[in-house]
Amino acid sequence: MISIIGGGPIGSYQAYLLAKKGEKVNVYEEHDKIGKPIQCTGILTHEIHKFLKMKNSFVVNKIKNAKVYAPNGKSITVKFDKEDTIVDRTKFDSHLAEMAEKEGAKIFLKSKYKSNDGKELKIGNKRIKTDILIGADGPHSRVAKNNGLWCNRKFVAGNQVVCELDDLKKDTMEIWMGLGMFAWCVPESKNIGRVGVVSYDKANEHLKELMKIRCKGAKVLERQSGLIPIYNPRQKLKKDFVYLVGDAATQVKSTSYGGIVLGMKAANVLARNKKRYVLNCRKEVDKDLYLSKIIRRTMDNFKIKDHNEFVKLVNQKRIKNILETKSRDYPSKMLLELLIKEPRFMKFALKTLF
Ligand SMILES: Cc1cc2nc3c(=O)[nH]c(=O)nc-3n(C[C@H](O)[C@H](O)[C@H](O)COP(=O)(O)OP(=O)(O)OC[C@H]3O[C@@H](n4cnc5c(N)ncnc54)[C@H](O)[C@@H]3O)c2cc1C
Repeated sequence: MISIIGGGPIGSYQAYLLAKKGEKVNVYEEHDKIGKPIQCTGILTHEIHKFLKMKNSFVVNKIKNAKVYAPNGKSITVKFDKEDTIVDRTKFDSHLAEMAEKEGAKIFLKSKYKSNDGKELKIGNKRIKTDILIGADGPHSRVAKNNGLWCNRKFVAGNQVVCELDDLKKDTMEIWMGLGMFAWCVPESKNIGRVGVVSYDKANEHLKELMKIRCKGAKVLERQSGLIPIYNPRQKLKKDFVYLVGDAATQVKSTSYGGIVLGMKAANVLARNKKRYVLNCRKEVDKDLYLSKIIRRTMDNFKIKDHNEFVKLVNQKRIKNILETKSRDYPSKMLLELLIKEPRFMKFALKTLF
């Protein structure tokens, strides 16, 4: 018996993969509904197609361009070779849960994991025996805490509003550099935008500042906020019969703070071979998580003038071409090429080192 804690996208996807292999899988989710509450912009790069068939039932929009603003107000537009998908997270998570159930996994709602005494789990008031315990219980993973896998993790804050806007370009997301860590406006339709900011601190103030720029007078339909784990290269992924995956394992890109694609990749690695999970993750997942962390550390040192210069450097055909065609999920595939085509990027990296 495999017990997965957390019916988020990674827990349900993990359950689907393991049940498909014939394993007996139970998923325990503390909420009474899958996919609620939402704390996500729902952007998925084209890489998602490697893991999942996209369905109209949960896809709300497709994004072909990113308009990036420097603090000096200048902007560039990057046209994606392969479009991003924007999903309704409640419907997306529910779809993944249905996939798991179709393969025979059982999902228990209103079932909060409290602790485990070895292989005996305390779920609500019940005691349940398991052979394997997988923590897919998100950034604050109780499974990690209770099993010596917390590893001094740190977080950033993501704050977002969903609002009515009448000047959206439906196929274009907007990104502001130098506001918090970065800020965004992602259209979910031609008149509704998801507008947010990610930052180490003062998340509310940064969001207010962004709203002054982007949504003055707009009707706010919803407010969402949540903590996102910062990838920790020293994160332990396994101890005895306990495994971590997704946000619970800090498997989130530090460049965009998106966790779904690489979380799904890690779930595949775990389903393929549990014994080699840690080793294979190091080879297949961690390299890009680590590079994204280095890029973020470099950008954290940016002064306003560096952001302006960065956007100016990106605004060259040979550089845009790399950004337009290479996957943002895998910086290992584009970083070297970017540095070769524009050695001036190196100066930003050197600032981090010295
Ligand atoms: C504002 C914001 C915007 C974001 N935008 C994007 C984006 O555009 N694209 C992207 O890829 N990522 C984005 N992310 C990150 C993304 O939301 C996460 O990486 C993703 O949800 C991780 O999925 P998960 O299944 O690992 O964890 P979660 O989605 O956190 O799911 C964990 C599940 O476990 C359940 N749970 C927790 N504790 C227990 C317990 N003790 N017992 C039972 N159940 C429990 C929770 O209820 C939850 O359902 C964003 C995050 C924020 C905060």
